[in-house]
Amino acid sequence: MSSNQKRIPYRRRPVWAADHQRNMTSITRKLHWHWMRKRLTGFLKTDLLLIVLAVLGWCAGQEYTRLGTIQIENSRNIFVLSSARQIYYQVRSPENEILFSVPSRDPLIVLAAVVNILLILQLLGLLFSYFGEGHRIRRILAPINEMALKADELSRMSFSEEKFHLIEDAIDQIHPDQTGAEKPLSFGDSDLSGVEAAMNNLLLRMRETYRQQARFVNDASHELRTPIAVIQGYANMLDRWGKTDEKVLEEGIAAIKNESEHMNHLVEQLLFLARGDSGKTSLAIAEVSVKDLMQEIYEESFMIDEKHRYRLKLPEDPLKIQADPALLKQAVRILVDNAAKYTPESEEIQLSAGKTDRGDPYLQVQDMGIGMAESEIPHVFERFFRSDEVRSQAGTGLGLSIAKWIVDKHGGHFEVLSRTELGTRIRIILPQ
Ligand code: ATP
Ligand code: MG
Repeated sequence: MSSNQKRIPYRRRPVWAADHQRNMTSITRKLHWHWMRKRLTGFLKTDLLLIVLAVLGWCAGQEYTRLGTIQIENSRNIFVLSSARQIYYQVRSPENEILFSVPSRDPLIVLAAVVNILLILQLLGLLFSYFGEGHRIRRILAPINEMALKADELSRMSFSEEKFHLIEDAIDQIHPDQTGAEKPLSFGDSDLSGVEAAMNNLLLRMRETYRQQARFVNDASHELRTPIAVIQGYANMLDRWGKTDEKVLEEGIAAIKNESEHMNHLVEQLLFLARGDSGKTSLAIAEVSVKDLMQEIYEESFMIDEKHRYRLKLPEDPLKIQADPALLKQAVRILVDNAAKYTPESEEIQLSAGKTDRGDPYLQVQDMGIGMAESEIPHVFERFFRSDEVRSQAGTGLGLSIAKWIVDKHGGHFEVLSRTELGTRIRIILPQ
């Protein structure tokens, strides 16, 4: 959190902060317990080691004092004599002769007392540091708590148009990819650098997505406004003169039909993209014969459009791929529609399929039409992009965006080759 942003003091936090507070408390408690368990296990291990060392030391001391030496070959054991209520430590020579036997109950009682005192001291120490540790954990978690509160604050905002503008301005002011005057989000804590980077990336993506969405909605509204205005204009004209003038009547009806068809096409395209963006379109993958698919499209194109010469070129081998046949067909149809739209009458349009040098299957549409300038090619898949040369023709600029969505979903990509006045070749390349 940057220094100029105000932290909400714990006591003045609004009611909705209670849930987060509870969540944070449970995380704090979990961390706390983890820390306690770790410390306690550490103490127990140390105590155990101390007991083992003390017993070994005492046994070695006894042996040295009584025998003047410690011989490894001697056998040792500890046994309990319940009749005498005593524990003995006994050492025997390799010949099984008892060298000495010493009662060891008292030293064991002393050891137990020492260990008990040590344990009590350790538990007391743990209890004192418990409160300090809790404070430390809460301090470390404070920025995460702030983030959760901010997120909650955002999620509870009612998004009026004014609020949207506020968010737009706020997002605009964050520059997660830059340093300098407009700094990326920073918590000023090296331990939180991972969270910081993730948040900055998220903000960057949110900003980009927000921009794209805003542009899309803006362009879509703009595109819809034109046919509506035209229909309105013709309706007014019909209202005034259409009842008496038959020519005006026919012209008006034709124009309204044309515009409503255009609007219908536009709405269908918008719906496809909106469904795709929201993840509602799923692929129905099946084995597809590319040759059969291209043959079908060729025959259909041939029938729909008599003004161009269509040619089909297919390889000998069967070309089978895993794809959604209906969607893939739609993508190729978009390419054929463009070829027909942007190629002068009686010129040739070639449909073909095959395998690239790398062995990836491809489906291709090539025309001898108006082509595109090199600078336009990178933009043809952008939503609503149309080159200046084609603006006089009907179209929305969404066809190739839809084709791209379909091909992307299949894990494929496009290859575009185009020269102005010479023609265009667009290839859909799919993974093997
Ligand atoms: P619609 O959405 O109705 O298909 P559109 O054809 O204008 O409209 P896209 O199919 O997305 O939209 O094509 C985008 C732009 O790319 C076209 O407007 C045109 O400028 C260019 N383009 C696409 N295909 C060709 C082609 N075969 N020859 C020349 N230009 C093309
Ligand atoms: Mg098109």
